[in-house]
Amino acid sequence: MRNAGLGSWPHRRARMAPKREAFTYNGVSTTYGELAVRTTKLAHRLAELGVRHGDRVAYLGPNHPSFAETMFAAHQLGAVFVPLNFRLTPAEINYQLADCGAHVLIHSPSHQAEHQRAISLDSYEDWLAGGSQEPLDELVAIDEPALILYTSGTTGRPKGAVLSHANLLWNTFNLMIGVDVSTEDIALVAAPLFHVAALTQTLLPTFIKGGHSVITSRWNVEDCLDLIQGYGVTWMFGVSTMYADLAASPRWPTADLSSLRVLICGGASVPDAVIHTYQDRGLVFCQGYGLTETAPGASFLEAADSVRKAGSAGTPVFFGDLRLADTGEIEVQGPNVTPGYWNDPVATAAAFTEDGWFRTGDLGRLDDGHLYVLDRLKDMFISGGENVYPAEVENAITDHPDVAEVAVVGVPDARWGEVGRAFVRPTPGADLDAAALREFLVPRLAKYKIPVHVEVVAELPRTGSGKVLKPALRRLPL
Ligand code: ATP
Repeated sequence: MRNAGLGSWPHRRARMAPKREAFTYNGVSTTYGELAVRTTKLAHRLAELGVRHGDRVAYLGPNHPSFAETMFAAHQLGAVFVPLNFRLTPAEINYQLADCGAHVLIHSPSHQAEHQRAISLDSYEDWLAGGSQEPLDELVAIDEPALILYTSGTTGRPKGAVLSHANLLWNTFNLMIGVDVSTEDIALVAAPLFHVAALTQTLLPTFIKGGHSVITSRWNVEDCLDLIQGYGVTWMFGVSTMYADLAASPRWPTADLSSLRVLICGGASVPDAVIHTYQDRGLVFCQGYGLTETAPGASFLEAADSVRKAGSAGTPVFFGDLRLADTGEIEVQGPNVTPGYWNDPVATAAAFTEDGWFRTGDLGRLDDGHLYVLDRLKDMFISGGENVYPAEVENAITDHPDVAEVAVVGVPDARWGEVGRAFVRPTPGADLDAAALREFLVPRLAKYKIPVHVEVVAELPRTGSGKVLKPALRRLPL
Protein backbone atom coordinates (compact mmCIF):
# COMPACT_ATOMS: atom_id res chain seq x y z
CA MET A 1 0.00 0.00 0.00
CA ARG A 2 1.62 3.22 -1.14
CA ASN A 3 -1.27 5.22 0.23
CA ALA A 4 -0.04 6.87 3.43
CA GLY A 5 -3.37 8.50 4.12
CA LEU A 6 -6.62 7.50 5.76
CA GLY A 7 -7.75 5.70 2.60
CA SER A 8 -5.46 2.82 3.54
CA TRP A 9 -6.88 2.38 7.04
CA PRO A 10 -9.67 -0.12 6.22
CA HIS A 11 -7.16 -2.35 4.42
CA ARG A 12 -4.53 -2.09 7.12
CA ARG A 13 -7.14 -3.04 9.73
CA ALA A 14 -8.62 -5.81 7.55
CA ARG A 15 -5.11 -7.29 7.26
CA MET A 16 -4.91 -7.52 11.04
CA ALA A 17 -8.41 -8.58 12.04
CA PRO A 18 -10.90 -8.83 9.16
CA LYS A 19 -13.67 -10.35 11.27
CA ARG A 20 -13.78 -7.68 13.95
CA GLU A 21 -16.80 -5.40 13.91
CA ALA A 22 -15.93 -1.91 12.75
CA PHE A 23 -19.35 -0.24 12.72
CA THR A 24 -22.83 -1.04 13.91
CA TYR A 25 -25.77 1.05 12.75
CA ASN A 26 -29.42 0.23 13.38
CA GLY A 27 -28.44 -3.24 14.58
CA VAL A 28 -26.47 -4.07 11.40
CA SER A 29 -22.70 -4.54 11.71
CA THR A 30 -19.90 -4.18 9.16
CA THR A 31 -16.56 -5.88 9.79
CA TYR A 32 -13.17 -4.42 8.93
CA GLY A 33 -12.82 -7.02 6.17
CA GLU A 34 -16.16 -6.02 4.65
CA LEU A 35 -15.26 -2.40 4.94
CA ALA A 36 -12.01 -2.86 3.03
CA VAL A 37 -13.97 -4.42 0.15
CA ARG A 38 -16.79 -1.88 0.27
CA THR A 39 -14.48 1.16 0.29
CA THR A 40 -12.48 -0.23 -2.65
CA LYS A 41 -15.67 -0.77 -4.66
CA LEU A 42 -16.88 2.68 -3.74
CA ALA A 43 -13.56 4.25 -4.76
CA HIS A 44 -13.88 2.63 -8.20
CA ARG A 45 -17.44 3.92 -8.47
CA LEU A 46 -16.30 7.45 -7.59
CA ALA A 47 -13.48 7.19 -10.14
CA GLU A 48 -16.04 6.17 -12.79
CA LEU A 49 -17.87 9.42 -12.02
CA GLY A 50 -14.63 11.21 -12.82
CA VAL A 51 -13.23 11.78 -9.32
CA ARG A 52 -9.47 12.26 -9.57
CA HIS A 53 -6.66 12.90 -7.14
CA GLY A 54 -7.25 16.24 -5.40
CA ASP A 55 -10.95 16.49 -6.37
CA ARG A 56 -13.53 17.14 -3.67
CA VAL A 57 -16.21 14.60 -2.69
CA ALA A 58 -19.04 16.04 -0.58
CA TYR A 59 -21.38 14.21 1.79
CA LEU A 60 -24.70 15.50 3.10
CA GLY A 61 -26.75 13.62 5.64
CA PRO A 62 -27.11 12.47 9.23
CA ASN A 63 -24.69 9.98 10.79
CA HIS A 64 -24.54 6.74 8.81
CA PRO A 65 -21.74 4.25 8.03
CA SER A 66 -21.75 5.52 4.42
CA PHE A 67 -20.27 8.76 5.78
CA ALA A 68 -17.06 6.96 6.80
CA GLU A 69 -17.12 4.71 3.74
CA THR A 70 -17.32 7.68 1.39
CA MET A 71 -14.49 9.38 3.26
CA PHE A 72 -12.18 6.35 3.10
CA ALA A 73 -13.09 5.74 -0.57
CA ALA A 74 -12.37 9.36 -1.51
CA HIS A 75 -9.05 9.09 0.31
CA GLN A 76 -8.13 5.96 -1.63
CA LEU A 77 -8.22 8.13 -4.73
CA GLY A 78 -6.39 11.02 -3.09
CA ALA A 79 -9.61 13.05 -3.18
CA VAL A 80 -10.65 15.45 -0.41
CA PHE A 81 -13.73 14.64 1.66
CA VAL A 82 -16.13 17.49 2.44
CA PRO A 83 -18.78 16.66 5.06
CA LEU A 84 -21.60 19.19 4.97
CA ASN A 85 -23.85 20.27 7.79
CA PHE A 86 -27.28 18.87 6.94
CA ARG A 87 -29.02 21.39 9.17
CA LEU A 88 -28.04 24.30 6.94
CA THR A 89 -30.42 25.93 4.49
CA PRO A 90 -30.19 24.92 0.80
CA ALA A 91 -28.60 28.31 0.03
CA GLU A 92 -25.90 27.78 2.66
CA ILE A 93 -25.22 24.24 1.40
CA ASN A 94 -25.04 25.40 -2.20
CA TYR A 95 -22.55 28.07 -1.19
CA GLN A 96 -20.26 25.45 0.39
CA LEU A 97 -20.63 23.03 -2.55
CA ALA A 98 -19.67 25.82 -4.94
CA ASP A 99 -16.88 27.13 -2.73
CA CYS A 100 -15.11 23.76 -2.58
CA GLY A 101 -16.04 22.85 -6.18
CA ALA A 102 -17.34 19.41 -5.16
CA HIS A 103 -17.11 16.92 -8.02
CA VAL A 104 -19.62 14.49 -6.51
CA LEU A 105 -22.23 14.70 -3.78
CA ILE A 106 -23.41 11.69 -1.78
CA HIS A 107 -26.58 12.58 0.12
CA SER A 108 -29.35 11.09 2.21
CA PRO A 109 -32.76 10.99 0.46
CA SER A 110 -34.13 13.65 2.78
CA HIS A 111 -31.27 16.08 2.14
CA GLN A 112 -31.14 17.31 -1.40
CA ALA A 113 -28.84 19.87 -2.94
CA GLU A 114 -28.24 21.13 -6.43
CA HIS A 115 -25.52 19.01 -7.96
CA GLN A 116 -24.90 17.48 -11.38
CA ARG A 117 -23.39 14.32 -9.95
CA ALA A 118 -25.46 13.46 -6.88
CA ILE A 119 -25.86 9.92 -5.53
CA SER A 120 -28.70 9.37 -3.08
CA LEU A 121 -28.30 6.83 -0.31
CA ASP A 122 -31.48 5.24 -1.73
CA SER A 123 -29.43 3.88 -4.62
CA TYR A 124 -26.06 3.74 -2.81
CA GLU A 125 -26.07 -0.03 -2.03
CA ASP A 126 -26.82 -1.07 -5.61
CA TRP A 127 -24.39 1.46 -6.98
CA LEU A 128 -21.62 0.30 -4.64
CA ALA A 129 -22.28 -3.40 -5.26
CA GLY A 130 -21.32 -3.06 -8.93
CA GLY A 131 -17.89 -1.55 -8.19
CA SER A 132 -14.62 -3.34 -8.99
CA GLN A 133 -12.71 -5.02 -6.14
CA GLU A 134 -9.35 -4.47 -7.83
CA PRO A 135 -6.99 -2.88 -5.26
CA LEU A 136 -6.20 0.76 -5.98
CA ASP A 137 -2.63 1.90 -6.04
CA GLU A 138 -2.87 5.68 -5.80
CA LEU A 139 0.14 7.30 -4.16
CA VAL A 140 -1.22 9.62 -1.46
CA ALA A 141 1.19 11.59 0.71
CA ILE A 142 0.52 12.26 4.35
CA ASP A 143 0.56 16.05 4.03
CA GLU A 144 -2.09 16.19 1.31
CA PRO A 145 -5.53 17.62 2.17
CA ALA A 146 -7.93 15.01 3.57
CA LEU A 147 -10.90 17.07 4.73
CA ILE A 148 -12.45 20.46 4.19
CA LEU A 149 -14.67 21.36 7.14
CA TYR A 150 -16.72 24.49 7.01
CA THR A 151 -16.79 26.35 10.30
CA SER A 152 -20.30 26.79 11.57
CA GLY A 153 -20.26 30.46 10.83
CA THR A 154 -20.78 31.78 14.34
CA THR A 155 -18.07 34.28 13.35
CA GLY A 156 -19.42 35.20 9.92
CA ARG A 157 -19.33 33.53 6.51
CA PRO A 158 -18.24 29.88 6.80
CA LYS A 159 -14.61 29.21 5.91
CA GLY A 160 -13.38 25.84 4.71
CA ALA A 161 -10.75 24.67 7.17
CA VAL A 162 -8.42 22.21 5.44
CA LEU A 163 -7.10 19.28 7.47
CA SER A 164 -4.38 17.07 6.03
CA HIS A 165 -4.04 13.33 6.55
CA ALA A 166 -1.13 14.14 8.87
CA ASN A 167 -3.27 16.55 10.93
CA LEU A 168 -5.83 13.78 11.45
CA LEU A 169 -3.21 11.16 12.21
CA TRP A 170 -1.48 13.29 14.85
CA ASN A 171 -4.82 14.14 16.40
CA THR A 172 -5.64 10.44 16.50
CA PHE A 173 -2.35 9.76 18.30
CA ASN A 174 -3.00 12.59 20.75
CA LEU A 175 -6.45 11.28 21.53
CA MET A 176 -5.24 7.71 21.92
CA ILE A 177 -2.60 8.89 24.35
CA GLY A 178 -5.13 10.96 26.30
CA VAL A 179 -7.87 8.35 26.46
CA ASP A 180 -5.78 5.17 26.19
CA VAL A 181 -8.06 3.72 23.50
CA SER A 182 -7.92 -0.07 23.23
CA THR A 183 -9.01 -2.70 20.72
CA GLU A 184 -11.73 -3.73 23.16
CA ASP A 185 -13.27 -0.27 23.23
CA ILE A 186 -16.81 0.32 21.99
CA ALA A 187 -17.49 3.94 21.10
CA LEU A 188 -20.85 5.62 20.81
CA VAL A 189 -20.83 7.99 17.84
CA ALA A 190 -23.85 10.16 18.58
CA ALA A 191 -22.63 13.71 17.94
CA PRO A 192 -22.99 14.73 14.27
CA LEU A 193 -20.13 13.35 12.19
CA PHE A 194 -19.89 16.42 9.98
CA HIS A 195 -18.67 18.25 13.04
CA VAL A 196 -15.01 17.41 13.46
CA ALA A 197 -15.08 15.97 16.99
CA ALA A 198 -17.39 12.98 16.47
CA LEU A 199 -15.23 11.83 13.58
CA THR A 200 -11.79 12.58 14.93
CA GLN A 201 -12.29 12.20 18.69
CA THR A 202 -14.20 8.92 18.60
CA LEU A 203 -14.57 7.21 15.22
CA LEU A 204 -10.98 7.51 13.95
CA PRO A 205 -9.14 6.63 17.19
CA THR A 206 -11.48 3.66 17.67
CA PHE A 207 -10.93 2.61 14.07
CA ILE A 208 -7.14 2.75 14.13
CA LYS A 209 -7.16 0.42 17.17
CA GLY A 210 -9.65 -1.95 15.57
CA GLY A 211 -12.36 -1.10 18.10
CA HIS A 212 -16.09 -1.00 17.48
CA SER A 213 -18.05 2.19 16.72
CA VAL A 214 -21.77 2.16 17.38
CA ILE A 215 -23.14 4.87 15.11
CA THR A 216 -26.48 6.53 15.63
CA SER A 217 -28.11 8.93 13.19
CA ARG A 218 -29.14 11.46 15.79
CA TRP A 219 -28.76 12.45 19.38
CA ASN A 220 -31.72 11.03 21.26
CA VAL A 221 -31.26 10.46 24.97
CA GLU A 222 -33.44 7.38 25.28
CA ASP A 223 -31.94 5.70 22.20
CA CYS A 224 -28.45 6.48 23.41
CA LEU A 225 -29.12 4.99 26.85
CA ASP A 226 -30.37 1.85 25.08
CA LEU A 227 -27.24 1.71 22.94
CA ILE A 228 -24.90 2.26 25.90
CA GLN A 229 -26.55 -0.57 27.81
CA GLY A 230 -27.18 -2.84 24.82
CA TYR A 231 -23.67 -2.74 23.37
CA GLY A 232 -21.71 -2.09 26.56
CA VAL A 233 -20.40 1.22 25.23
CA THR A 234 -17.08 2.10 26.88
CA TRP A 235 -16.62 5.71 25.79
CA MET A 236 -18.11 8.61 23.88
CA PHE A 237 -17.65 12.26 23.01
CA GLY A 238 -20.34 14.86 23.53
CA VAL A 239 -20.87 18.58 24.01
CA SER A 240 -22.04 19.61 27.46
CA THR A 241 -25.68 20.03 26.33
CA MET A 242 -25.75 16.35 25.37
CA TYR A 243 -24.44 15.33 28.77
CA ALA A 244 -26.88 17.65 30.54
CA ASP A 245 -29.76 16.11 28.55
CA LEU A 246 -28.60 12.58 29.39
CA ALA A 247 -28.48 13.34 33.11
CA ALA A 248 -31.95 14.91 32.94
CA SER A 249 -33.51 11.70 31.60
CA PRO A 250 -35.97 10.02 33.99
CA ARG A 251 -33.94 6.84 33.37
CA TRP A 252 -30.68 8.41 34.52
CA PRO A 253 -30.90 7.35 38.21
CA THR A 254 -31.44 3.68 37.37
CA ALA A 255 -29.68 3.27 34.00
CA ASP A 256 -26.81 0.78 34.03
CA LEU A 257 -23.80 2.84 32.96
CA SER A 258 -21.20 0.46 34.34
CA SER A 259 -19.63 -0.22 30.93
CA LEU A 260 -18.64 3.44 30.48
CA ARG A 261 -14.91 3.85 31.01
CA VAL A 262 -14.54 7.50 30.01
CA LEU A 263 -16.71 10.35 28.78
CA ILE A 264 -15.15 13.18 26.83
CA CYS A 265 -16.69 16.61 26.74
CA GLY A 266 -15.65 19.65 24.72
CA GLY A 267 -16.58 21.90 21.85
CA ALA A 268 -18.14 24.52 24.12
CA SER A 269 -17.78 25.59 27.72
CA VAL A 270 -18.57 22.86 30.21
CA PRO A 271 -20.53 23.98 33.30
CA ASP A 272 -19.21 22.70 36.63
CA ALA A 273 -22.68 21.36 37.43
CA VAL A 274 -22.47 18.96 34.46
CA ILE A 275 -19.00 17.76 35.43
CA HIS A 276 -20.08 17.09 39.01
CA THR A 277 -23.26 15.27 38.01
CA TYR A 278 -21.09 12.69 36.24
CA GLN A 279 -18.24 12.58 38.71
CA ASP A 280 -20.64 12.19 41.64
CA ARG A 281 -21.90 9.11 39.90
CA GLY A 282 -18.36 7.70 39.81
CA LEU A 283 -17.92 8.20 36.05
CA VAL A 284 -14.68 9.47 34.51
CA PHE A 285 -15.56 12.75 32.83
CA CYS A 286 -12.74 14.52 30.96
CA GLN A 287 -12.84 17.91 29.31
CA GLY A 288 -10.93 18.72 26.13
CA TYR A 289 -10.51 21.97 24.26
CA GLY A 290 -10.00 22.53 20.58
CA LEU A 291 -11.24 23.82 17.27
CA THR A 292 -11.97 22.47 13.84
CA GLU A 293 -8.70 24.07 12.74
CA THR A 294 -6.70 22.04 15.29
CA ALA A 295 -8.21 18.73 14.14
CA PRO A 296 -9.56 19.44 16.91
CA GLY A 297 -7.70 18.48 20.11
CA ALA A 298 -5.53 21.30 21.48
CA SER A 299 -5.65 20.34 25.16
CA PHE A 300 -7.02 17.43 27.13
CA LEU A 301 -7.56 16.60 30.79
CA GLU A 302 -6.47 13.05 31.43
CA ALA A 303 -8.59 10.73 33.56
CA ALA A 304 -6.01 10.73 36.38
CA ASP A 305 -6.54 14.48 36.85
CA SER A 306 -10.21 14.69 35.99
CA VAL A 307 -11.36 15.16 39.60
CA ARG A 308 -8.38 17.11 40.99
CA LYS A 309 -8.50 19.56 38.08
CA ALA A 310 -12.23 19.45 37.33
CA GLY A 311 -13.20 22.53 35.32
CA SER A 312 -9.91 22.66 33.46
CA ALA A 313 -9.56 21.71 29.80
CA GLY A 314 -6.27 20.04 30.73
CA THR A 315 -2.74 20.32 29.45
CA PRO A 316 -1.63 20.72 25.81
CA VAL A 317 -2.06 17.51 23.82
CA PHE A 318 1.06 15.31 23.66
CA PHE A 319 2.01 16.36 20.12
CA GLY A 320 1.09 20.03 20.24
CA ASP A 321 1.84 23.25 22.09
CA LEU A 322 -0.25 26.03 23.49
CA ARG A 323 0.57 29.52 24.75
CA LEU A 324 -1.27 32.64 25.83
CA ALA A 325 -0.77 35.94 24.00
CA ASP A 326 -0.55 39.18 26.01
CA THR A 327 -4.27 39.67 25.39
CA GLY A 328 -4.98 36.26 26.98
CA GLU A 329 -5.81 34.71 23.59
CA ILE A 330 -4.97 31.03 23.33
CA GLU A 331 -2.51 30.25 20.51
CA VAL A 332 -1.76 26.75 19.29
CA GLN A 333 1.04 25.14 17.32
CA GLY A 334 1.65 21.54 16.33
CA PRO A 335 1.27 18.86 13.68
CA ASN A 336 -2.51 18.86 14.22
CA VAL A 337 -2.91 22.50 13.13
CA THR A 338 -4.56 23.26 9.75
CA PRO A 339 -2.40 24.42 6.86
CA GLY A 340 -5.13 27.05 6.24
CA TYR A 341 -8.53 27.79 4.72
CA TRP A 342 -9.64 26.54 1.32
CA ASN A 343 -8.99 29.14 -1.36
CA ASP A 344 -8.72 31.88 1.22
CA PRO A 345 -5.15 33.14 1.65
CA VAL A 346 -6.36 36.30 3.40
CA ALA A 347 -8.22 34.39 6.14
CA THR A 348 -5.30 31.96 6.39
CA ALA A 349 -2.76 34.74 6.89
CA ALA A 350 -4.99 36.41 9.49
CA ALA A 351 -5.32 33.18 11.46
CA PHE A 352 -1.61 32.85 12.23
CA THR A 353 0.81 35.00 14.23
CA GLU A 354 4.05 36.16 12.60
CA ASP A 355 5.90 33.26 14.22
CA GLY A 356 3.39 30.69 12.97
CA TRP A 357 1.04 30.05 15.91
CA PHE A 358 -2.66 29.61 15.24
CA ARG A 359 -4.86 32.28 16.80
CA THR A 360 -7.85 30.53 18.34
CA GLY A 361 -9.98 33.59 19.13
CA ASP A 362 -10.51 32.14 22.62
CA LEU A 363 -9.40 33.57 25.92
CA GLY A 364 -7.76 31.33 28.46
CA ARG A 365 -5.89 31.21 31.73
CA LEU A 366 -3.10 28.82 32.63
CA ASP A 367 -2.80 27.53 36.17
CA ASP A 368 -0.20 24.96 37.12
CA GLY A 369 0.16 24.15 33.41
CA HIS A 370 -3.55 23.52 33.09
CA LEU A 371 -5.75 25.47 30.72
CA TYR A 372 -9.00 27.09 31.79
CA VAL A 373 -10.99 28.37 28.82
CA LEU A 374 -12.57 31.67 29.80
CA ASP A 375 -14.56 32.55 26.72
CA ARG A 376 -14.39 33.59 23.13
CA LEU A 377 -12.58 36.85 22.65
CA LYS A 378 -15.61 38.18 20.78
CA ASP A 379 -18.13 37.03 23.43
CA MET A 380 -16.38 38.81 26.27
CA PHE A 381 -17.96 42.19 27.02
CA ILE A 382 -16.99 45.13 29.17
CA SER A 383 -19.36 46.43 31.80
CA GLY A 384 -18.36 49.60 33.60
CA GLY A 385 -14.73 48.99 32.61
CA GLU A 386 -14.69 45.40 33.90
CA ASN A 387 -14.27 42.34 31.65
CA VAL A 388 -17.18 39.92 31.85
CA TYR A 389 -16.77 36.38 30.54
CA PRO A 390 -20.26 35.07 29.70
CA ALA A 391 -19.06 31.48 30.19
CA GLU A 392 -18.38 32.21 33.87
CA VAL A 393 -21.81 33.80 34.32
CA GLU A 394 -23.50 30.88 32.52
CA ASN A 395 -21.65 28.48 34.78
CA ALA A 396 -23.03 30.19 37.91
CA ILE A 397 -26.58 30.31 36.49
CA THR A 398 -26.47 26.61 35.59
CA ASP A 399 -25.94 25.86 39.29
CA HIS A 400 -29.57 26.82 39.84
CA PRO A 401 -31.62 23.61 40.01
CA ASP A 402 -34.42 24.98 37.83
CA VAL A 403 -32.09 25.95 34.96
CA ALA A 404 -31.64 23.48 32.12
CA GLU A 405 -29.57 25.73 29.91
CA VAL A 406 -28.51 29.34 29.59
CA ALA A 407 -26.73 31.69 27.22
CA VAL A 408 -25.45 35.13 28.18
CA VAL A 409 -24.53 37.92 25.77
CA GLY A 410 -23.42 41.51 26.26
CA VAL A 411 -25.89 44.19 25.14
CA PRO A 412 -25.46 47.98 24.91
CA ASP A 413 -26.28 49.97 28.02
CA ALA A 414 -26.36 53.75 28.36
CA ARG A 415 -24.79 53.78 31.80
CA TRP A 416 -22.32 50.84 31.86
CA GLY A 417 -21.43 50.61 28.17
CA GLU A 418 -22.55 46.99 28.12
CA VAL A 419 -24.48 44.74 30.49
CA GLY A 420 -25.36 41.05 30.49
CA ARG A 421 -28.54 39.61 29.00
CA ALA A 422 -29.32 36.03 29.95
CA PHE A 423 -31.59 33.69 28.01
CA VAL A 424 -32.60 30.86 30.31
CA ARG A 425 -34.30 27.60 29.41
CA PRO A 426 -35.86 26.17 32.59
CA THR A 427 -35.98 22.47 33.44
CA PRO A 428 -39.32 20.92 32.41
CA GLY A 429 -42.13 21.97 34.75
CA ALA A 430 -40.02 24.48 36.71
CA ASP A 431 -41.49 27.89 37.49
CA LEU A 432 -38.40 30.04 37.08
CA ASP A 433 -38.61 33.64 38.19
CA ALA A 434 -36.13 36.13 36.71
CA ALA A 435 -35.85 38.27 39.87
CA ALA A 436 -35.29 35.21 42.06
CA LEU A 437 -32.59 34.00 39.70
CA ARG A 438 -30.75 37.33 39.94
CA GLU A 439 -31.03 37.07 43.74
CA PHE A 440 -29.51 33.56 43.54
CA LEU A 441 -26.50 35.03 41.77
CA VAL A 442 -25.77 37.75 44.34
CA PRO A 443 -23.51 35.60 46.59
CA ARG A 444 -21.98 33.87 43.56
CA LEU A 445 -20.95 36.66 41.20
CA ALA A 446 -19.61 40.20 41.44
CA LYS A 447 -22.40 42.70 40.86
CA TYR A 448 -21.16 43.82 37.41
CA LYS A 449 -21.31 40.20 36.19
CA ILE A 450 -24.95 39.60 37.13
CA PRO A 451 -27.12 39.93 34.00
CA VAL A 452 -29.34 42.99 34.13
CA HIS A 453 -31.76 41.36 31.69
CA VAL A 454 -32.99 37.81 32.31
CA GLU A 455 -35.39 36.17 29.89
CA VAL A 456 -36.99 32.77 30.25
CA VAL A 457 -37.18 31.04 26.86
CA ALA A 458 -38.42 27.69 25.56
CA GLU A 459 -35.49 27.12 23.17
CA LEU A 460 -32.11 28.62 22.32
CA PRO A 461 -31.10 29.15 18.67
CA ARG A 462 -28.40 26.66 17.67
CA THR A 463 -25.80 26.08 14.99
CA GLY A 464 -25.77 22.80 13.09
CA SER A 465 -23.28 21.38 15.56
CA GLY A 466 -25.59 22.18 18.46
CA LYS A 467 -23.86 25.28 19.77
CA VAL A 468 -25.84 28.29 20.84
CA LEU A 469 -25.90 30.90 18.10
CA LYS A 470 -24.96 33.95 20.14
CA PRO A 471 -25.01 36.44 17.24
CA ALA A 472 -28.73 35.63 16.80
CA LEU A 473 -29.33 36.32 20.50
CA ARG A 474 -27.40 39.60 20.32
CA ARG A 475 -29.62 40.76 17.48
CA LEU A 476 -32.87 40.24 19.43
CA PRO A 477 -34.43 43.59 20.38
CA LEU A 478 -34.52 44.30 24.11
P1 ATP B 1 -16.83 29.47 14.27
O1 ATP B 1 -17.81 29.23 13.18
O2 ATP B 1 -16.98 30.80 14.90
O3 ATP B 1 -15.41 29.16 13.91
P2 ATP B 1 -17.40 26.98 15.56
O4 ATP B 1 -18.22 26.71 16.76
O5 ATP B 1 -17.80 26.46 14.29
O6 ATP B 1 -17.17 28.53 15.50
P3 ATP B 1 -15.60 24.94 16.21
O7 ATP B 1 -14.30 24.67 15.60
O8 ATP B 1 -16.71 24.03 15.98
O9 ATP B 1 -15.97 26.40 15.77
O10 ATP B 1 -15.48 25.08 17.78
C1 ATP B 1 -14.34 25.61 18.38
C2 ATP B 1 -14.71 26.52 19.50
O11 ATP B 1 -15.44 25.82 20.52
C3 ATP B 1 -13.50 27.05 20.22
O12 ATP B 1 -12.93 28.15 19.53
C4 ATP B 1 -14.05 27.42 21.57
O13 ATP B 1 -14.64 28.70 21.56
C5 ATP B 1 -15.14 26.39 21.81
N1 ATP B 1 -14.64 25.32 22.71
C6 ATP B 1 -14.13 24.13 22.38
N2 ATP B 1 -13.81 23.42 23.47
C7 ATP B 1 -14.11 24.20 24.55
C8 ATP B 1 -14.00 24.03 25.97
N3 ATP B 1 -13.54 22.92 26.53
N4 ATP B 1 -14.40 25.05 26.76
C9 ATP B 1 -14.88 26.20 26.22
N5 ATP B 1 -15.02 26.41 24.89
C10 ATP B 1 -14.64 25.43 24.06
